Amino acid sequence: MNKENIVTLPEPNLRKRSQKIGVITDEIKKLIADMTDATIDWEASRDHEAAVGLAAIQVNKLYRVFIIRNDFENTENKKFTVFINPEIVKKVGPLEEDYEGCLSVPDIYGKVPRYQSVKVKALNEHGQTFRVTAHGYLARILQHEVDHTHGIVFIDHIKNKKDAFYRLMPEGGLEPLDYEKDVKQNSILW
Ligand SMILES: [Zn+2]
Repeated sequence: MNKENIVTLPEPNLRKRSQKIGVITDEIKKLIADMTDATIDWEASRDHEAAVGLAAIQVNKLYRVFIIRNDFENTENKKFTVFINPEIVKKVGPLEEDYEGCLSVPDIYGKVPRYQSVKVKALNEHGQTFRVTAHGYLARILQHEVDHTHGIVFIDHIKNKKDAFYRLMPEGGLEPLDYEKDVKQNSILW
């Protein structure tokens, strides 16, 4: 797969729940490799963004699996951790708002409230259970990716839509969007 396989809103499948994986078949292993390829290819096409994670639903495969980059700081490191049948087993507040983007919502960023810490339980690609306790940015990414497996996109969490959306500028940096003029008329968001 490559970046062309990544679906974007208003693709209706992005709002569907993914199915649990029973056996980690060769098809699932191939899917994980394809998702990694698509993520790296997408990143290579973007000047100002790093790809930190991708869920299977974003390549239109409705399985509960996502990948998260091992090193957010160093884009030379192309290694990802696989989460199969992920579940958030603990959430610790308070909610914190910060900027979030998504490969399936191109060029649009928003301020999304997320729990400060979460504990996630999942299977790795060998079918072994593991748990991750995460804080801050990693906790945010995990909540974003688990949401994808439930058919939730980050913009669905933004209740007060005024002053909440931003556009990535060609030279980098985020520009606030005018809710009435830019956001309401932008039908990809609703
Ligand atoms: Zn996303």
